[in-house]
Formats: sequence, structure tokens, C-alpha cells
Amino acid sequence: MWRPVALLLLLLAPFRALAVETMRIAMGDAQAEVRVSGRALSFGSDTEDARFSPLDPDSVVVRRRGSRLELNGAPVIGNAVRFRAGEDSEDAGVPGSSPLRAGGMQVRGDVVVRLYKDGLQLINVIPLEDYLAGVLGSEMPVSFPPEALKAQAVAARTYALQKKLETYGSPFHMGSSVLHQVYGGLNREDPRSRAAVEATRGEVLTYELAPIEAYFHASCGGRTESGQDALQRDLPYLQAVDCPCGSLPASRWSATVSDSELHAALGQATEGFRVASRSATHRVNRVVTANGVSLDGATLRRKLGYTKLKSLGFDVERTGGAWHFNGRGYGHGAGLCQWGAKGLADEGLSYRDILSHYYPGTELQQLY
Ligand SMILES: [Zn+2]
Repeated sequence: MWRPVALLLLLLAPFRALAVETMRIAMGDAQAEVRVSGRALSFGSDTEDARFSPLDPDSVVVRRRGSRLELNGAPVIGNAVRFRAGEDSEDAGVPGSSPLRAGGMQVRGDVVVRLYKDGLQLINVIPLEDYLAGVLGSEMPVSFPPEALKAQAVAARTYALQKKLETYGSPFHMGSSVLHQVYGGLNREDPRSRAAVEATRGEVLTYELAPIEAYFHASCGGRTESGQDALQRDLPYLQAVDCPCGSLPASRWSATVSDSELHAALGQATEGFRVASRSATHRVNRVVTANGVSLDGATLRRKLGYTKLKSLGFDVERTGGAWHFNGRGYGHGAGLCQWGAKGLADEGLSYRDILSHYYPGTELQQLY
């Protein structure tokens, strides 16, 4: 029953005082105190409709004293305080507020400092659309056709909102590794990715009125994988579908793994391994080592390295004293295939067509 309720909350969000959907991303933890600086700094309570009061200095120290917070030595009510910098008219590249500095990072949007365990936790609150413009360039090459970029923008927005609902009520929705991706992205933000985000503003893929788990990957090699086989997510809209990326030479890969590499990866001396089972799309489900240890495919891939074993769609043979892998695709294979989306866009399909191909049975909804 939680799904319709969660969606209702999402639908109501735009009608709150601030009509901006935001993401909360953990920046990291601090000890007893942290300095926050930014131009025209102001502070308020940690809510979307908080009133912000200007701070005279552009740099303040937040300190934990017992179970309370202090701002430049003065007590603050509540267990969190939120900071915002003034508008930055000089920075034409990225709209919005000027950056804030806290805990060794420079971020846009708001920074929340909250009591956490024995110390403090820093959280960046960033408008979802800015977050998407920042990450899109690191998720898909900006040289891809506009309809493919738009499909990726909707998938990334849906994925983020689904994470937000999944963590509803938690202080943050995503961990700090995402933040490095965001600001790596902001620095490399491209007009093409910004245009794809703006063209699809507020559009989210839903199934039975809830945002879907919109997984995506670089290349499937000709057929995507079911959510169950790829990620143990048995969802009606994550089924294996045909994909045009299979005809691309770039979707094929090969790798050679020596015995010593295999030993190091598996953490045990073994005479080798054999494929024990495959999914319906020929991807490896399970391998068994010569000394009888059974591993699922995802674990094998993690242990050998995701860039070495680019996918589980491989055949393997032992020749010349080493293991030779020949495979197709890059990534887990579930949901949207990025190279396939490019292929479909090149054939003239719209981003809506592309999305309904990779997420069958879903509906595109305008949430704000
Ligand atoms: Zn594909």
C-alpha cells in the first residue's frame, strides 16, 4: 500500500511553499565543529520552506556542544541548521546560488549541518533538475543524439526520485560518491545535457502510479537482461528486450585472465572454474570452481573487476595457460541500454518510444 501513498506525497510536493523538487546527498561526517563559508551567507531551519536569516560574516563555525548545535558560539534551536549562499550573477555557466564551502567540499544548493552520532553530518540539498544537469554528462556521452539524451534524463530523474521515495523520511537520499559525480558533472556541464534535462523537466516513468526503478547500463550486446537475472529485482517492466546495439563492434569485448589473477580475485588457489548455469539471455548466472566453490555471476564480475569482465554475456575457454573471455555488452544489462538508445534515436525514434521499449508497460508522467 505504500506506493500510492508515496506517489501522493510526490504529487503534493509542488504545492508546498517552495515548488522545487530537491535531492539530499550526504557530503560526509565531521567531528565536533565545521566551518561553512559562502557569499551573502544566510541560515534557517532544515525544511524546504524555511525562512533564511542573513549572517553578517561570510564564514561561520558550527559546533556541537553536547546534544546541541552552536553557530559562532550562540545556541541554535533544533538538531540541524541549513545554510544558503546568495545568488551568483557573475557565474553565467551554472544558474542558481553561488557555491558554499563546507567540510573540504565546494557545493551548490544548500548545506545542512546536523547532529549525527557523536559528531556532525553534512548534507547537500540540491534542486533535482540541477543535479540531473550535473550528472547527465557523466552518465551518457553528450555527443549522443538529443532523443537518447532525453531518454537518459528521464531515466536518471526517475531513478533519483525513486531513491528519494525509498529513503523517505531519512536525512539523505544518496551517499557522497554521488556528490563527486555531481560536481564533476557541474564542472563539465554541457549545453546538450542541460537541454535534454530542460526538455523533459518533471517527467518521470511510472508503473502503477509509482516511479519505477529505472536501471540503465552502457550496452547490452543485443538483448537486455531481466531485472531478476541482472539485479534480483523481479519487476514487470524489467524484462529482456531486443536491442540494436548488438550490431555494433563496440559492444564486443575480450579479456585474458591469468591463473594468478584468477587466484588473486577468487582468494583461493583453484585449478579453474566452469560455467554452471546461464540466464535466458545466455548471461552467466553461476560458476563453480574446480575445488567446488559456487559463485554467482555478479560476484565473479565484482571480483575480477567490472572493467575487466565488462558483462556476464561471455564465453570462456582456457588456451595457452590462460583464461580467454569473449563477451558482449558493458554493464548489468537491465533497463535502458545507452548504446541501444543511441541506435534507436538514430533510427528516428523519440525518447518516449525509446523509454517504452526498454521499460515496457510504464507510463510517462509529468510530476511538476
Ligand atoms: Zn543494447
